[in-house]
Amino acid sequence: MTIIKLKENLSLDLPADLAEKLGLSPGDSLTADVDQEGRLLLTPVPAVAEPPQASLKEAITKKNLATSMQFIKGIGPKLAETLARKGINTVEDALYLLPNRYEDRSTIVPIARLALGSTQVFQGEVAAAEPQTTKGGRRYFEVLLKDTSGVIHLKWFNFNPVFMKRTWRIGRRGIFTGHVGQYGLQREVHHPEVEWLADGEEIAAVLSRDTASFGRIVPVYPLTEGLSQKIMRKVLKEVVERFVGFISDHLPPDLRHRHKLLPIPDALAEVHFPESVTDITVLNRGDFQAHRTLVFDEFFYLELGMALKRQGVVIEEGIGFSVTHKYTKPLLQMLPFQLTTAQRRVLTEIKEDMMTPHPMHRLVQGDVGSGKTLVALMAALVAVENGYQVAIMAPTEILAEQHFLNIHRWCELLGVSVVLLTSSFKGKARTAALASIADGSAQIVIGTHAVIQDKVEFHRLGMGIVDEQHRFGVLQRGILRKKGENPDILVMTATPIPRTLAMTVFGDLSLSVIDELPPGRTPIETRLVFESRRSQVYAAIREEVNNGRQAYLIYPLVEETEKSELKAASQMAEHLQNDIFPDLKVGLLHGRMKPEEKEAVMRSFKAQETEILVATTVIEVGIDVPNATIMVIEHAERFGLSQLHQLRGRVGRGSAKSKCFLLTSGRLSEDGEKRLRVMESTNDGFRIAEADLEIRGPGDFLGTRQAGLPDFRVANILRDGRILEEARKEAFTLVEQDPGLKQPHHAAIREELARRWGGRLELAGVA
Ligand code: ADP
Ligand code: MG
Repeated sequence: MTIIKLKENLSLDLPADLAEKLGLSPGDSLTADVDQEGRLLLTPVPAVAEPPQASLKEAITKKNLATSMQFIKGIGPKLAETLARKGINTVEDALYLLPNRYEDRSTIVPIARLALGSTQVFQGEVAAAEPQTTKGGRRYFEVLLKDTSGVIHLKWFNFNPVFMKRTWRIGRRGIFTGHVGQYGLQREVHHPEVEWLADGEEIAAVLSRDTASFGRIVPVYPLTEGLSQKIMRKVLKEVVERFVGFISDHLPPDLRHRHKLLPIPDALAEVHFPESVTDITVLNRGDFQAHRTLVFDEFFYLELGMALKRQGVVIEEGIGFSVTHKYTKPLLQMLPFQLTTAQRRVLTEIKEDMMTPHPMHRLVQGDVGSGKTLVALMAALVAVENGYQVAIMAPTEILAEQHFLNIHRWCELLGVSVVLLTSSFKGKARTAALASIADGSAQIVIGTHAVIQDKVEFHRLGMGIVDEQHRFGVLQRGILRKKGENPDILVMTATPIPRTLAMTVFGDLSLSVIDELPPGRTPIETRLVFESRRSQVYAAIREEVNNGRQAYLIYPLVEETEKSELKAASQMAEHLQNDIFPDLKVGLLHGRMKPEEKEAVMRSFKAQETEILVATTVIEVGIDVPNATIMVIEHAERFGLSQLHQLRGRVGRGSAKSKCFLLTSGRLSEDGEKRLRVMESTNDGFRIAEADLEIRGPGDFLGTRQAGLPDFRVANILRDGRILEEARKEAFTLVEQDPGLKQPHHAAIREELARRWGGRLELAGVA
């Protein structure tokens, strides 16, 4: 039994499990109230802990934030259920449901002085109220509202006439809130919010009745369906007033001062019901002090987790390679070009990592065509020079094969043995490959995830290189690591992830950016073309081919196994061959072809025997045919922008000017068209990725959930990039100064960290 105090020395014995369900601890009190419908409302009041023992206070704090919303004054079971459906179950959920924007309701404005273009509060009396019809036949309900200074028109476009007539009685008085706009010659407010005055009631009485909604700047919450703003404000006011004091401020004070942050409880109170900032435009930008504090707090704990994980990696023992130049130097001499400055810088960063006796975890990011493969090969050769094996993994067979062809070409001249291993290797070929990997005679192993299957045993794996990270799960990275003794890991991504996002998603990896393309590339000219102009696209292909160039025609394929799409691609190839370009050779490439078939098709294209290649998105990554100068992407609207950028990167690889046509049906939404137009305006993968991120949100962009990235409650990764960098610096410094956060004055931080990350600290990032 748990004894709970009721009012006036009255105690209640509750079975322990019931007390726990109610969120009550021994010694807590309940205040009792009767609501309008005669129901008994019990509100738990936590026992005050004296003396303020840290652990006890913590316990109370947690319990209170976990208080179920149904215990909040004014919340009945129905409202609690509605809130729960929106994901608001506890006080903490509610506190972190931040307003979308704010409305200035600090003063009641005389009707004559209502300013256009902003949301204001005014009061008045209904002078007329009738349903009306526009010239175009659209019905609306119109009210003429007057005060002593003037009149204004109120309008509704979706309404129930009976209800409206009954509600908007002539002479009825109220307080109204709405956006004042100019329509033709007249000022109007559409769909205002109303607070009616009872007969003879003073305005002041209404204002003091709802201090959450009047006489101040008020929050506007992102929930609508089934929940009015008025109710949300009342609920949040109650929650903020009663619970914000229980939130502990775990950010170290010196850090708070450095970044001019508020204590967390103050920030939460301010962000819901601002007192110190009175400029509505500042508030609506969402970067005032309270907001910045909460964003910082969120990023800080995220990055702290990242820093700890990264530290766990750094202190692990690994291989300390030495740079002998045995293979790297001859390779550089053989190349028909110089490394770019960016390639050299990134290589230095990689080599420095490789020389330390800890496992490397580095992400190399570079736009399409920036020359990542060569950087990877140079790093691989350093490992080979030290007598270790290197595994290079690519996301698709065709890309693995291409890497193999490229790398093999150089390595053959250097006397380094390279082996290809994909899942289509069967029988003898597979046995031979496996044997050479196991006995160490294969120095570089290139393949798909077949490389990390159980059966593959390395003799001495020293380095794993993962190409196109965004297609590879975190898990696979982990397995690769276990194939050797803490080998160095290099992750290459061609998806130009905005730096802010890279830091969050791959925050446990060091980041190198190849931010320069080899010289002599001309930007690709991209055009959005509607289906009705398809013949112009064919004419453009014809022109390029007449100039000795080649063309790609790409079909979207969500799954490489989707039969209907494959059919579309092969039918298109047939149609082009038979009806449009009978004098040319049209090839077809898709993911379901046998490796030999694919290779034959690619070889024929590379050798310029095939002029036009119809392909599914297997072509997306890494294919390198500099003579191909025109690409047509069918159903472009089905692709993400970054994917389009990847695809487009298959042309423009030589010095000749290249073109890319994005074909789409005419039925694009305005947003859809705007999105595709981004491709016309820029060739910069980072800008495109940013636009993609803005449109689709970070979760969708990379499958961040899979990457173990916590959801953001407050932060907006695009808007708050600067804060992320500051928070990251602080977090990493803190972990450097106090590895493991063991110092007593960091106990609160450690606990908060554990609370936020939960089990994800182990699962996320480096597996
Ligand atoms: P990505 O970064 O997209 O993987 P690749 O590694 O496929 O790019 O390189 C694209 C092309 O650029 C290849 O043909 C490669 O040989 C060439 N390349 C790489 N580095 C240089 C350089 N420094 N100068 C000129 N060409 C280069
Ligand atoms: Mg590549």
